[in-house]
Amino acid sequence: MDSKLPNIGETIFAVMTAKARAAGAIDLSQGYPDFDAPPRLTELLSQAMAAGHNQYPPYIGVPTLREAIAAKVADLYGATVDPQDEITVTSGATEALFCAAQAVIRPGDEAIVFDPAYDAYEPAVELAGGKTVHVPLTSPNYGIDWQRLKEAITDRTRLIYLNSPHNPAGATLCRADLDQLAALIRNRDILLVSDEVYEHICFDTAGHCSVLAHDELAQRAYVISSFGKTYHCTGWKVGYCIAPPALTAELRKVHQYVTFATMAPAQHALAQFMTEHPEHHLGLAEFYRAKRDRLNRWLQRAGFAVTPAAGTYFQVADYSALSDAPDTDFADTLIAQAGVSTIPVSVFYARAPAGQRHLRFCFAKDDATLDAAGEALSRLESPLG
Ligand code: PMP
Ligand code: GLN
Repeated sequence: MDSKLPNIGETIFAVMTAKARAAGAIDLSQGYPDFDAPPRLTELLSQAMAAGHNQYPPYIGVPTLREAIAAKVADLYGATVDPQDEITVTSGATEALFCAAQAVIRPGDEAIVFDPAYDAYEPAVELAGGKTVHVPLTSPNYGIDWQRLKEAITDRTRLIYLNSPHNPAGATLCRADLDQLAALIRNRDILLVSDEVYEHICFDTAGHCSVLAHDELAQRAYVISSFGKTYHCTGWKVGYCIAPPALTAELRKVHQYVTFATMAPAQHALAQFMTEHPEHHLGLAEFYRAKRDRLNRWLQRAGFAVTPAAGTYFQVADYSALSDAPDTDFADTLIAQAGVSTIPVSVFYARAPAGQRHLRFCFAKDDATLDAAGEALSRLESPLG
């Protein structure tokens, strides 16, 4: 059959996790915790089901969950958002990303992504008939190259994707970045998708810089987050999108025919848990900082070079002291020789920088898992193939 997405294969996360399982390797590739969600949260899910929350919920999301989200963003970002007209609960952040693209991209429109870019953006743009324009982040710190961004903006640019904290790079945007972006697009008809699924895993002293805290940008943005990352329940696939009423109305037109609604009892459980345990998301950065530092001690001992991630539960490591092989090959070598699976960073680029030797490690793992992976990596003998 003539494919509508001829350049899209199976996502790297499925590919590497399958390889890890087949080899019995420790999976530091796909981003999911190997520890469980809080017991109280799973208890609340059972209670919600027992209480009969098993039929279609409102398609825009259960009211108590939308109210809890509004209270959280008011508290953290000083943002006033209306739970009725500006918040939509979706089946994971992935659904919100897809609906936002379908809602605003017309054939011929351009959407700018920063490479390395999370892999869900481009297919959604293409399916809407748009063209993805790739602007590489700077090397080695993964910042925005403002000159290149300026050059990439045309009269056809409709959307710019932001992702902070950034997957896979672990980099973050600060207020000055948002100000610079606002100045660049001020008089243009450009919208933003701000993927902030790692909003609570930010190690910067100033904390996460949300587009919701930037009045000017928030007026033209779909801000997307996910409960999976925050509550260690990636398999529940519950996320949400915050946007001004007119943008939300267009997103909902798509959402109602993609999934209509998101699993009802999970929404009730999350709403109740957020109210009972507001400290959970506030403590997440410290929880993950310790894991990042633990992994990085091992990586350095094994000969990798790291600049500690500023956010997310991913660490990019440079293995050029260990091997000159391309990262896709070296990721396979690590599975075979150390029993550890990772994600090659080059797959997130339209054109990866020549000679870049970067792998992404997920540290959302029990300390024992990180130690077992670290020990295996430190036993590697260099030079490797
Ligand atoms: N955006 C980014 C940057 C991610 O890392 C993920 C995680 N998997 C998603 C979106 C999708 O989140 P969800 O699992 O809630 O669909
Ligand atoms: N976001 C997760 C990661 O970066 C994976 C999500 C998925 O498997 N689709 O590893």
